[in-house]
Amino acid sequence: MKFFKNLFSKPYKTTLTVTSNSGFHLRPIAVFVSKAKSFDCVIKASFKHQTVDTKSVNALLALNLDKGDSFTLIAKGSSAKEALNVLSKTFHTLMQNDEPIKHIQKKEHHYLGACLYGESIYEGIAIAPLFTHEQTEHYEEIKTTFIEAITYATNDLEKLYSTDKNNENTMIYMAQKELLASLAKEEGTFENFEQRIYKEIEALEGGKLESKRVDYLDILQRVKSYLGYSTNLSFPKEAFILIAKDLLPSDILALENTQVAGVILKESTLTSHTAILLRAAGIPSLILTQDISKYPHTRVILDTYSGLLLISPSEADFQEAKTIQKQYQNQISKAYEKRFEKAYTKKGKYIKVSANISDLRSAEIAKKEGADGIGLFRTEFLFKEQKPDFQLQVDTYRKIFDLFPSTTVRTLDVGGDKSLPYIQLPHEHNPFLGIRGIRLFQTHPKLIKEQLLAILTAANGKKIKIMFPMISCVSEFIEIKKIAQTLAKENNINISHISFGIMIEVPSTLFLLESFNKEVDFYSIGTNDLTQYLFAIERTHTTLTTNPLSPAVFHALDFIMHHTTKPVSICGELASNKQAIPKLLDLGLETLSVSPKHIAQTKEEIRDV
Ligand code: PEP
Ligand code: MG
Repeated sequence: MKFFKNLFSKPYKTTLTVTSNSGFHLRPIAVFVSKAKSFDCVIKASFKHQTVDTKSVNALLALNLDKGDSFTLIAKGSSAKEALNVLSKTFHTLMQNDEPIKHIQKKEHHYLGACLYGESIYEGIAIAPLFTHEQTEHYEEIKTTFIEAITYATNDLEKLYSTDKNNENTMIYMAQKELLASLAKEEGTFENFEQRIYKEIEALEGGKLESKRVDYLDILQRVKSYLGYSTNLSFPKEAFILIAKDLLPSDILALENTQVAGVILKESTLTSHTAILLRAAGIPSLILTQDISKYPHTRVILDTYSGLLLISPSEADFQEAKTIQKQYQNQISKAYEKRFEKAYTKKGKYIKVSANISDLRSAEIAKKEGADGIGLFRTEFLFKEQKPDFQLQVDTYRKIFDLFPSTTVRTLDVGGDKSLPYIQLPHEHNPFLGIRGIRLFQTHPKLIKEQLLAILTAANGKKIKIMFPMISCVSEFIEIKKIAQTLAKENNINISHISFGIMIEVPSTLFLLESFNKEVDFYSIGTNDLTQYLFAIERTHTTLTTNPLSPAVFHALDFIMHHTTKPVSICGELASNKQAIPKLLDLGLETLSVSPKHIAQTKEEIRDV
């Protein structure tokens, strides 16, 4: 029926023009395709003499749409009109948000030796021997079928993408996942799949999207790894500069755990996903087309501030490189060196910079990074793979509470985008508005009670704060606090040193502050969720975005600061936003809780206000 409906209904058309300097490339295409797939109707894209299915990444990529190219979107069937509307909006947002890759301006230099010049991917200086990357492949017969290998590879990519869905870098894995889906659907056997990948790569040759060849190779390697093919990746134990023709995006993840000081690629491009991940990993890297394979193990200087490689540096050149390296490091480390010092504004006001952590390891990192305390302990991460038993919970909480004079521990915040494999939540049309955070108490009271008791037991005289997530009305808080008090009484635990508070992240709480003031001991503003609910845009949405610096957010914060009579801190991402920090301090916030890696920089920003 649907088929006939689609066949005879009137087609809707619209024209879209590529405005991004980078063209319509893999990452935006992947987002576009996933949006197109949410519609039942047939949606085609027509450009020059080709018409392709918009639900296939591979087909859209093949159009090679560049900046200035206009193509027609044609939808037919039920919801065709709506699909075109949504896809046009999605497309415009994608074009607007597609930041061009900045070319690094080469700095002048004073080296005496002969230099080879290239294009810098990421700035820095590396002094180390060259090491040539040669990969060998081994095969061992295993019983996995092609379909299973595709499923495993898809799951891998899904996992990599889910770690941080709003991050441009993890979007790469979403794009690879869509690419894999479109190829696997068309090719039923591994042999066909492999041949197809090489055919696609051949077609990319010389074109604007040639840099995407690494993504095809990456998904091929991922699938092969489940079919018994393993590649040997061994790197020196001492610092090294890696030379390779090109690397796969997944190689960069492996490289991050080595002593790599720099990377030189012969055939990469600034826009490739390998380059994007090198930047994200902060590895000084250069694209150099000259052949340098005849200089293995030579100690060289890679200076990507000036976009060069010195194959035979003199002693004076080494000195020069070290001086430049020091100068840059000094700038970065100035903030880092002062990370254990308290942060005072120019007017002398102390601002506490705490850390957002998820387990013991991140708490230890926070300690090393100079956190003044723990402002948000997201306990759900301890429960991620399997439920920790009561004793394990007590031990972990205790170790973390012992690290800092003050810890704010949040009870399980599951639901929405955070699920637990062993917890069955009812199917919901809109999980972000469903059983989430404290609402889990309705469906899984035993789990929450056990966690509360573990926290109370671990506190054992320590001054900690217990915080409840997703509170939307006062009675929820009163009820859960009562549960905690009863548990303490039944187990003879003194809780006079424990304070109880809430996350302010559901807009309704703003208008109930007068009542909350009478009940809670403290508040912490979760701007991630508060922004999502203020704008009614899912925080994990792939195409709709909110502006974290919107006046709507700051009006809400201002309102909170004017209507609360108990201490307020902020623990959403906004707390480490360079542009937001002066405004947050201006509003009167005195505690910012940020991810451990942002502590030193946040303190430095505060000192500048
Ligand atoms: C928030 O919502 O801002 C917050 C800090 O909590 P989470 O990101 O864990 O939901
Ligand atoms: Mg939240």
